[in-house]
Amino acid sequence: MSESNPFENLQEQIEDAAGFLPDGVGDDVLERLKNPERVLETNLTVDMDDGSIESFRAYRSQFNGDRGPYKGGIRYHPGVTRDEVKALSGWMVYKCAVVDIPYGGGKGGIVVDPSEHSADELERLTRSFAKEVRPFIGADKDIPAPDVNTGQREMNWIKDTYEKLENTTEPGVITGKSIENGGSEGRVEATGRSVMFAAREVFDYLDTDLDGATVAVQGYGNAGWIAAKLLDEQGASVVAVSDSSGAIHDPEGLDPVAVKEFKNDSGHVTGYDDAEELTNRDLLTLDVDLLVPAALENAIDEDIARDVQADVIVEAANGPLTPDADDVLQDSDITVVPDILANAGGVTVSYFEWVQNRQRFSWTENRVNDELERVITDAFDELTHAYETLDLPSLRTAAYVVAIQRVVDAYTGNGNWP
Ligand code: GLU
Repeated sequence: MSESNPFENLQEQIEDAAGFLPDGVGDDVLERLKNPERVLETNLTVDMDDGSIESFRAYRSQFNGDRGPYKGGIRYHPGVTRDEVKALSGWMVYKCAVVDIPYGGGKGGIVVDPSEHSADELERLTRSFAKEVRPFIGADKDIPAPDVNTGQREMNWIKDTYEKLENTTEPGVITGKSIENGGSEGRVEATGRSVMFAAREVFDYLDTDLDGATVAVQGYGNAGWIAAKLLDEQGASVVAVSDSSGAIHDPEGLDPVAVKEFKNDSGHVTGYDDAEELTNRDLLTLDVDLLVPAALENAIDEDIARDVQADVIVEAANGPLTPDADDVLQDSDITVVPDILANAGGVTVSYFEWVQNRQRFSWTENRVNDELERVITDAFDELTHAYETLDLPSLRTAAYVVAIQRVVDAYTGNGNWP
């Protein structure tokens, strides 16, 4: 993986796109668009099962709140850094703006390898983080959610800690909870589902057929595996998938559900059936119709980009291409549907969960999926409209132009005070 700094990448993306805004944007406002409003950095001291105490560095970045409460997940990963969290919080601002849901952007992260800790230790760690961020979060202030290595269990713990300390019931303080604890139908599948919708829309836009298209998916976590399953249901052929153990390839097409079951039992995708084993790089450079990077940032650097043979990339992960890789792919006429649109299904259904929590009224799964489809297809249409009418260099630039304009309009409307 490349060493490229995700925060610098985010700033470069904003600067590049800002130059294409029809009415322009002043350097003073641009500075605001490129930097977080505030970042909380804290050291959590947590009791371990053996009686010792361990310290964990943790962050919450509130990047921009001009369009609504800060919104974004919490990541548990040994590679979490302050700059990574800042970048991820910025991508949330523009993600929420591009699909036009009434949120700003935030992100949290804890430097921890969850596989090295018991459930009890993770619960104490999560509750410690919740206690630390409690003054800054709230259903109208900052609404965390799941991200890499966190899910319903962690969200339930955060909700419970918050509610007990505040002596209230406020499920809308966090999204991605289990259904019994105020979660929404369809939330777990939402990121993968929007990746499928984005793929369907872009294939349609390019006048090609998703039915029968070959697909490679890098990363088989929640986003990657659901995207693989739903693309398969659309008639695409998922020929390769990977996780941190390596990649597997079957030119005849893999069964995504069977691969997932194998991974659940064994802990990895490698070793599945008699599929050929590939390296991560081999998977990223396979000759397929569609490549879905669904792991971490910077998965495709300039060097790998030169060897990419896919016709279309739909970004399920946040920031999987370095800006240099993006330039190379643009020169090679490879169409990239950017993360801030393609994976926006997660935060969009988080928004639906928050609306349901506030109404104390639950939607059916069909309603959730239908509304999600509408949000993603409308946003895709707006993006291609901007791409064509403003003659923009890429769909990513188009997404940022649409999103930045919305943030600038909200900021201007609010006024600069104090
Ligand atoms: N972590 C997800 C993302 O990067 C979801 C965020 C949310 O639901 O607030 O978009």
